[in-house]
Amino acid sequence: MATYDFDLFVIGAGSGGVRASRWAARYGAKVAVADDDRLGGTCVNRGCIPKKLYAYASHFHEDFEDAVGFGWDKAAPAFDWPRLVAAKEKEITRLNGIYAKLLDGSGVTRIDGRATVEGPHAVKVGDKTYTARHILIATGGRAERPKIPGAELGIVSDDAFDLPGFPKRIVILGSGYIALEFAGIFAGLGAETISVYRAELPLRGFDGDVRKHLAAEVAKKGIRIRSSTNLTKLERKGAGLVAHTTAGDAIEADQVMFATGRAPNTAGLGLEKAGVTLGANGEVVVDAYSRSSVESIYAIGDVTDRIALTPVALHEGMCVAETLFNDNPTKVDHANVAAAVFSQPAVSVVGLTEEEARKTFARVDIYRTSFKPLKHTLSGRDERTMMKMVVDAATGRVLGCHMVGADAAEIIQGVAIAVKMGATKADFDRTIGIHPTAAEEFVTMRERVADPVPQAAE
Ligand code: FAD
Repeated sequence: MATYDFDLFVIGAGSGGVRASRWAARYGAKVAVADDDRLGGTCVNRGCIPKKLYAYASHFHEDFEDAVGFGWDKAAPAFDWPRLVAAKEKEITRLNGIYAKLLDGSGVTRIDGRATVEGPHAVKVGDKTYTARHILIATGGRAERPKIPGAELGIVSDDAFDLPGFPKRIVILGSGYIALEFAGIFAGLGAETISVYRAELPLRGFDGDVRKHLAAEVAKKGIRIRSSTNLTKLERKGAGLVAHTTAGDAIEADQVMFATGRAPNTAGLGLEKAGVTLGANGEVVVDAYSRSSVESIYAIGDVTDRIALTPVALHEGMCVAETLFNDNPTKVDHANVAAAVFSQPAVSVVGLTEEEARKTFARVDIYRTSFKPLKHTLSGRDERTMMKMVVDAATGRVLGCHMVGADAAEIIQGVAIAVKMGATKADFDRTIGIHPTAAEEFVTMRERVADPVPQAAE
């Protein structure tokens, strides 16, 4: 039997790679993990964590305004961008240290450097080649820039966290979750923010009512929305930039941020040399066990272009460790993965959209509510929360729950358990609510939305 340096060599110490390494080591495997950047990957260093910290920071200005309705004096505290960046940096450095401790404590060998695949059982880092029974690709993804003249003058989300100065005016191109989250952050922190996107509504793939409701709420925050518009060219003008649009006009700004998509990190990794099949977007093509076309090579997380979220990468990593080292072949379960957009207000969803459900189920019942949250009766803020349930009319099973409003992610996480368990609308109805909350609306929605009028035959 061949002997190898390691049972598992993981390339990428991000969300998925760290989890798979630790889980495999826990089952007794000899594991190495290589990374050429700070430990923790995208989520910790330039994704979920700093993004959420900045979203908190940006919300304070509304909280100060809202407080006036509750008897507090009007306050206009100043905001200091370098102080926020430094506080974020301190916390991320702390997290990097925790990741190192977790890996060391699990007995995983950490290797610092860029790794390439040299064959089905060989990985090279620097001038050293390691052999491994199994290789796990967990290299994540990277932000892409549009192919327009001057694109190099703009920034992507990686750059946005550490800008040397806070922009007075920013244009954000894109309508996905990252674009919306950063629009909320920059606007909340005081930048004049212009959100430009090609589509008519943001968040392609989300429920139509969610998209409409969010677009209306975002506009109320003072973010200028330029929908059905794209950028054609960026130019430098003095210390700032000029962004030319498909509408024929030009927008002046201090920064232009591209949030137009991400691509799997497979370039130059040597995967083709090892015989690993890549998909049209450069992603590693894998089966339900995350195994690539080469038996000894697996891939998890964003590099596989399945569901690009941290908890999904963690789950995929644990499934690989179970399959390879715990004699327990485990398929990845991508059904009913809840997700959130930390826009302002936030969006959170689990399960099917109305549009998806109508394609699969003969009859779908819709329950929907939109209301002014209790807090805003005194704050006077013009913000409405929207909640929606998608139900299979034949069985009563709740197929999807959608929310736009404060604390949406905190609420949907609990609802997701019920949806995953196959709860019916009757189960929701017999659950007694917690009063007064927004969440209780999910167990008190009784009025079915009238079925859409069937289109007349042409
Ligand atoms: P990553 O975490 O990206 O890790 C990949 C690692 O591989 C990196 O550390 C990289 O340095 C390393 N690497 C790459 N190539 C090599 C090589 N050749 N050799 C050595 N090392 C290499 N997800 C959520 O669930 N919630 C959120 O709120 C959220 N917000 C986000 C906000 C932003 C702005 C972004 C960009 C992403 C966000 N995500 C969020 C997505 C989440 O960050 C990713 O889904 C997750 O990090 C994917 O984990 P991964 O293990 O696949 O890759």
